[in-house]
Amino acid sequence: MTRPSPAAALNGVQVGNICDKGNHRIRTGDIAVVYATYYDADGWVVRRVMCDCGSRTIGLPTDGADEVIVEAVWWAGRLVGVKTVDRSRP
Ligand SMILES: [Zn+2]
Repeated sequence: MTRPSPAAALNGVQVGNICDKGNHRIRTGDIAVVYATYYDADGWVVRRVMCDCGSRTIGLPTDGADEVIVEAVWWAGRLVGVKTVDRSRP
């Protein structure tokens, strides 16, 4: 099975509007920085949602997951215009 691109998979996904890093509120039109992982059983899953304050680089690697940081626009509860900014696997 081909692994879908994270940007395509996460586009349109519903996420909350509270930044995980500092309890900042994310409003429509704001930049959201999202950390997501891929496991075969689950596909791409959003793990953390941050506002513009979020780190654009992946920190320490997680047990074998394909990890990604994407930047998107938060629009009425969904991620739009998603683009990948860092990924643990090429
Ligand atoms: Zn924030």
